[in-house]
Amino acid sequence: MKKVLITGAAGFLGSHLTDRFLKEGYYVIGMDNFITGDKKNIKHLEHNPNFEFIDHDVTKHISIDGDLDYILHFASPASPIDYLKIPIQTLKVGSLGTHNLLGLAKAKRSRILIASTSEIYGDPLVHPQTEDYYGNVNTIGPRGVYDEAKRFQESITMAYNRFHGLETRIVRIFNTYGPKMRLNDGRVIPAFMGQALRGEDLTIFGDGSQTRSFCYVDDQVEGIYRLLLSDYDHPVNIGNPHEISIKDFAEEIIKLTGTQQKVIYQDLPVNDPMQRQPDISLAKKLLGWEPKVSRAEGMKITYDYFKSLTEEELYKSEHKDFSNYTTK
Ligand code: NAD
Ligand code: UDP
Repeated sequence: MKKVLITGAAGFLGSHLTDRFLKEGYYVIGMDNFITGDKKNIKHLEHNPNFEFIDHDVTKHISIDGDLDYILHFASPASPIDYLKIPIQTLKVGSLGTHNLLGLAKAKRSRILIASTSEIYGDPLVHPQTEDYYGNVNTIGPRGVYDEAKRFQESITMAYNRFHGLETRIVRIFNTYGPKMRLNDGRVIPAFMGQALRGEDLTIFGDGSQTRSFCYVDDQVEGIYRLLLSDYDHPVNIGNPHEISIKDFAEEIIKLTGTQQKVIYQDLPVNDPMQRQPDISLAKKLLGWEPKVSRAEGMKITYDYFKSLTEEELYKSEHKDFSNYTTK
């Protein structure tokens, strides 16, 4: 049985990847420190003999017994309001955490896949974004803690590939959504759906002309799975190229949820990218992959998930409490 370590396993993408790898017949070791994740996302695996969980902060030394075939490094805050609240932890998990995982991969001779992001393109001057675009990132802006950690992560991964001959894969993930996102993580889909369910107005940041391209989680997981098993070691964009402005998207959510509320406008966060759309030609050619789930289908499934949450979860404090968290 092949063995895979998935960091960030209690988070949104990590928990979906864990389910997928178990379904494919792998033995999965999940690792997480729950800083932005939720025990609920892996609760159904408690008695699964092919799953084991290690509560661990990946910025600290990592020890794993026995062999490891694959490592998927997905631990990192991913929502802007999360990484703005824990900026140093975000820099550490992308740099020190990645260094630890690359060291582990080298010691175990594992293939390692690193979760990078469309944020490495910053506020892009090339549209749609192709993998050969170097990006437009403000190193000292508030989002720099995430963007630069991820850019460093790509660099150190390629250095281990070139210097140590490590088998590495880099996925540049564009905005992905689906069940198990944290309702209060601040990202636009849970934010709008939570507002609709609580009978609040939908908050559009800026004038809503900025664009995003949303990928349903099952499509994302399929792309990542194929990339891991491919023999390509340079970065690959995985996302859904169907682009929409945030203003039009808010209208779609209003229709989908049937909310009587209106939209209200708030300040645009600093360095919020104005446009984002993946060019997925490379993924199509290399992996024979393209997204299959339309936004209408994916949004419906996601809304059904948020509707199934308890009143307590729906009204839980606006944001996760990081006050007990130390970066030491
Ligand atoms: P998430 O916040 O739901 O999951 C991240 C998980 O990592 C959480 O469970 C968190 O507790 C864990 N974690 C954070 N720091 C840790 C540490 N030091 N040690 C151990 N565990 C730690 O976010 P997500 O959306 O699932 O994102 C997962 C990965 O995918 C991240 O690396 C993110 O940068 C990347 N990504 C996601 C998206 C997206 O649209 N969801 C887009 C681009 C990139
Ligand atoms: N956004 C918004 N209202 C919200 C939350 C987000 O208008 O309540 C906007 C945000 O400014 C950004 C887009 O939606 O332009 C996507 O934001 P998200 O945090 O989901 O992801 P990212 O900016 O990382 O792509």
